Amino acid sequence: MSDYLALDTGTLPERLSGIEAVASRVGPDPATWSVKEVGDGNLNLVFIVEGPSGTVIVKQALPYVRLVGDSWPLPLTRAFFEYHALTRQAARDPGRVPEVFHFDEDQALIVMEYLSPHAILRGRLIAGQKTEGLGEALGRFCARTAFRGSDLSMKTPEKKADTALFLGNVELCDITESLVFTDPYFQAEMNNHNPHLDALVTELRGEVALKTEAQHMLAKFANNAETLCHGDLHTGSVMCTDAETRVIDPEFGFYGPMGFDIGMLIANFLMAYLSQPAHRGDELDAYQEWILSVVDETWTSFASEFSTLWEAERTGILYPATLFEDQNHSASGALSDKLRDIWADALGFCGIEQHRRTLSLAHNADFESIEDAETRGKLEARNLRLGAYLLMNRTTIADTSELLDIARSFN
Ligand code: ADP
Ligand code: MG
Ligand code: MG
Ligand code: MG
Repeated sequence: MSDYLALDTGTLPERLSGIEAVASRVGPDPATWSVKEVGDGNLNLVFIVEGPSGTVIVKQALPYVRLVGDSWPLPLTRAFFEYHALTRQAARDPGRVPEVFHFDEDQALIVMEYLSPHAILRGRLIAGQKTEGLGEALGRFCARTAFRGSDLSMKTPEKKADTALFLGNVELCDITESLVFTDPYFQAEMNNHNPHLDALVTELRGEVALKTEAQHMLAKFANNAETLCHGDLHTGSVMCTDAETRVIDPEFGFYGPMGFDIGMLIANFLMAYLSQPAHRGDELDAYQEWILSVVDETWTSFASEFSTLWEAERTGILYPATLFEDQNHSASGALSDKLRDIWADALGFCGIEQHRRTLSLAHNADFESIEDAETRGKLEARNLRLGAYLLMNRTTIADTSELLDIARSFN
């Protein structure tokens, strides 16, 4: 046991040089290491540690929310949940998350693979860059983690034990329950929004049916422990090159509904799409259509991989093959029911994520980087209206082609 102490660039080499997993990758002499703090997230410290032999990432939780400061305490245990989520994701979709080299629970720190020359997807979308295979990789990641972390795949003792473990991630779930699902729909203290949206915000907050649907989605989030979700799968938790896609930062990991991660992702693509008019010139239409093609690819890849796993890996307690002998064991009707429910849930979570990024505490750079408040407000208003439409109509939108047409009609 060693008392927790936050790292800084000065103390890091000396404090971590004794860790074999670090020294063997960076170099034996800490005097030769160079350390940069690069955390641009809302919560934690992230250091790039470079030496003669190589480079690693050191991520350390702080006992408070980095974005707000020590007036908002947040437990160090989030590093524990991130570590356990990373190891499960690595097993369920090999190669998609950074390899973990070392975990120190007392210091709430994870030493992991340095992704380079990868950059955060959100910034790449703002800059108009494309990544080959983006939707395919993300859809497959969501399908593999959803399926393999669920009762479709896991045995009951293992699933119950893991659900119990992740139930400890109370404070991070609490953040999502408040900031994502609840705060957008009333005048919560930590909210902020563009004054150009005042009239629309009043209108939306006056819609009882909308608030009711948002609460239905919150009930699913809080009560449907279907699978281990990433919990924070926005485009700031994806790092890409032109050809490769990786997923980081699962500290919000929790057992929740299968549609949650993919719904958040789709929301972030739709927000990238709707914000493009402020970021692109000539290439606007082509790039917007590319973003929509990624949404299509993400869901298509999800459904395809989920179906493959359904046929090949249904080893858990749900829909066992023996019950469906008359159907060649495939239970294909149950599969299409399941995909339909995940799709509808995803669209509901999508609409809520669009709302919270415009109305609640943590906004996204897609819109925030638009300097002119009036221009920003016009695009944010489309985002709010599209989000409301998707949340309200989630069970009747048939497929991605209909979703994309709806998105185009709000653009
Ligand atoms: P937070 O939980 O505070 O949001 P993140 O895990 O999202 O922290 O990391 C913050 C930033 O650090 C990322 O946006 C990215 O720029 C950088 N980063 C994090 N992990 C890695 C990694 N494995 N390789 C390269 N850069 C990383
Ligand atoms: Mg992050
Ligand atoms: Mg994080
Ligand atoms: Mg257009």
